[in-house]
Amino acid sequence: MAEETIFSKIIRREIPADILYQDELVTAFRDIAPQAPTHILIIPNHLIATANDVKASDEKALGRMMTVAAKLADEAGIADDGYRLIMNCNKHGGQEVYHIHMHLLGGKPLGTNAEPRRMIINSDYFPLTEVATRFVNQLAQCRRLGLSVKEASEHHVLIELPYSQDIIGYPDTSVIHGGVITTLIDTACGTAVVCAILKKYQSLELSPTLDLRVDYMKPAEPLKPVYAFAECYRLSSSVAFTRAIAYQESIDEPIAHAVGSFMRISPEMVGEEFRQALMGNLPESQHD
Ligand code: 5GP
Repeated sequence: MAEETIFSKIIRREIPADILYQDELVTAFRDIAPQAPTHILIIPNHLIATANDVKASDEKALGRMMTVAAKLADEAGIADDGYRLIMNCNKHGGQEVYHIHMHLLGGKPLGTNAEPRRMIINSDYFPLTEVATRFVNQLAQCRRLGLSVKEASEHHVLIELPYSQDIIGYPDTSVIHGGVITTLIDTACGTAVVCAILKKYQSLELSPTLDLRVDYMKPAEPLKPVYAFAECYRLSSSVAFTRAIAYQESIDEPIAHAVGSFMRISPEMVGEEFRQALMGNLPESQHD
């Protein structure tokens, strides 16, 4: 028996989602991380884990998914220009949620790449992404929040905080707690320091936060991820200076601006196990 996913909770309306259509067979709702101006997920109400698990008895629900896709495309005004319907299966197909779903994507020319993906990291451009990812994964609170490094270089770091019901601070509006954004920004700035020092001195340093000032401009919109872009703009012998912007759709519409300073500590203070973990020489489970 396949395990329920977050989509079952959306169907039962136990967690917030922008539901556009629901009947006895299928549910359609907006994707939390849209890859196009229109990005809707259409799913059967009963759990089918992957396309491999489809049975003849599922044909009615699967057929309904098609008719609902056509109806929603029409309602979204994208039917004439066209759109793309995609179902990913298992690892090579890029399936992340194991409750089959049809992506309805449109509202702009979609190019030839058939896969709705998050940002694809080109490690030639952002060579420190892997080490930055390992650094963030060392921190228990970051693993808990699901922070993921999208890009990292000696000049900048970009980290994503996924939306989740666990971080809602204001149940009436489903807006996430400001403290989580502070943690995101602190992590992005700290990671930018690790990357800048690693590149400049070829050494690993742990830099505790000395001071972090965050100016909030507006609350984060529910259901959407938040990004923090941070840079380490100056390294003195004892302090690393950083600045960061937290945003959702566009960096030009910030949720918060921040400046932070971090204390530089001798590389000898970094424990051997931590160093090995950052260099990718330890499996994840050993450094929990
Ligand atoms: P897959 O990669 O499995 O084909 O696509 C899963 C999709 O589900 C992704 O596009 C992802 O953004 C979306 N998604 C994951 N969790 C949630 C959620 O909690 N709410 C909504 N609305 N979409 C989600």
